[in-house]
Amino acid sequence: MIPGRTFRPAPDPPFREDVDRARRIILVDADPEGGERLSHRIAAQGFEVERAPDGAAGAEIALANPPSAVVADLWMPGVSGIQLCRLLRSEAATAEVPVILRGDRDDPRSRFWAERAGAHAFVPKGRFGELVRVLAKATDENRDGDGFFFQLPPGNIDIRDRIAQHLDRALFDLAIASEVRALAHAGSVDRLFDRLSQFMSQVVGYRWLAICLPDPRRVALHLHPRSAAQAEAEARVALSLEDGVVLTRVEDEDARAEQIDNEMTVVHGIPFGDRLIGRLALGGAESTDAARSIASLVASELGGPLCIASLVEESQRLASTDLLTGLLNRRAFIAALEPELSRRVGTVALLVLDVDKFKAINDGHGHATGDRVLAALGELLRTMLRKADVAARWGGEELVVALAVPDLASAEIAAERVRAAIEALVVRNDAGAVVPVTASGGLSLLEDDETLDGLMSRADRALYVAKATGRNRIVAAPSSGLTEDDLEPPMFVETAA
Ligand code: GH3
Ligand code: MG
Ligand code: MG
Repeated sequence: MIPGRTFRPAPDPPFREDVDRARRIILVDADPEGGERLSHRIAAQGFEVERAPDGAAGAEIALANPPSAVVADLWMPGVSGIQLCRLLRSEAATAEVPVILRGDRDDPRSRFWAERAGAHAFVPKGRFGELVRVLAKATDENRDGDGFFFQLPPGNIDIRDRIAQHLDRALFDLAIASEVRALAHAGSVDRLFDRLSQFMSQVVGYRWLAICLPDPRRVALHLHPRSAAQAEAEARVALSLEDGVVLTRVEDEDARAEQIDNEMTVVHGIPFGDRLIGRLALGGAESTDAARSIASLVASELGGPLCIASLVEESQRLASTDLLTGLLNRRAFIAALEPELSRRVGTVALLVLDVDKFKAINDGHGHATGDRVLAALGELLRTMLRKADVAARWGGEELVVALAVPDLASAEIAAERVRAAIEALVVRNDAGAVVPVTASGGLSLLEDDETLDGLMSRADRALYVAKATGRNRIVAAPSSGLTEDDLEPPMFVETAA
């Protein structure tokens, strides 16, 4: 039994030809007298009005037989106008039915909530003319394209179940959205992806998950180690990646290894403002509506966190990088080396390099050429050193390298290779002439209980010897157990030129 009463329009209404289903209004009003008066007045304007005493009854009538508009109070006991509106928006049968919410006062708060609930309009109580105008417009608009109407048989509707389901879904969406937004704190894109994969694999089953950023091209892929090759091949196809594109793989057993019967691959753009900043792809996922809606929700929320994570990453990179050489700066070098110093006794050597007669290069060829020399040295170190080595610009024309080595002899070989490579560098001045560049180096191997300062000052003194004995050479410092007298030039081990 459908609650509520139906008021037929007045016998000679102004819009008689229009009185059809497109003008049927459901009026939800908890106040019996006020509701009755209002429904008569609306009916007198040519609408067919059906009354409902509360939000639940209004929803039930609307879902059983979708009207052309619903008018309800914003705040009511039981199911509020906001809940009613959100429920109708989320049900296929009533998704397009305009809901007009009414409130006691015309305040920004009421308008805000009405808009957030998806209401067609907010009309303060007492403004009858405005209500009729809004209704006429809304029902006119809604009349187009309503040839297809969902209709649910009244007996099948348990409105409280539907509201509960709707609230569950809203809560679920909200939880996922807030989980994705929290990824903004990840601090780097790699960490963001790692966390994203941990949480996505909990809410959707999949064989692989990828994000792809275009500029600079970067692809992260989460997959199961056992089916990694197939997953990567599928991801490359789904994202149309050229062969050369390198993927960062996160492998663990949170991704599925086996194929299942009902699988799908989805790719979504990741929007930020009015542009797409990347793509999210999910492969071998269960083909369910829930998985589809999670993938699309995650993609739509991921833009902000991704931008923040890449900005944090970029600003950290800039803060730790020397712009001229592209090497670390002094602060970042100390931060990288100092914490692990005690574990690296005997396995890290410090090479301090200083360009020979650099003042003469500046004076003879101009400061810009001097800068080019430093940039070329940075490039050289970045390309020739191994991953475990750390190079930095200490200041001016002085560079430092922490060499990961098994002993001093290996460090001397590595340092000598660097010296020879510098000597072979081709740097040209503004006129195109080659400017000869050499550097001298001091080398020290980390000893027991030695601080970075101690290691540095031994290398510095060795460098001084290298300069004093002719430049363009590497000198290895003796162990710190020796006295000052032992540190005279002849005691240094000379390894080059
Ligand atoms: P030595 O062989 O004894 O090391 O002689 P040097 O001329 O290299 O040593 P000195 O310390 O007298 O001169 C270093 C010069 O490096 C002076 C300084 O103007 C220059 N310099 C320091 N930083 C930069 C820079 O960023 N760009 C350029 N072009 N020159 C720099
Ligand atoms: Mg110097
Ligand atoms: Mg110098």
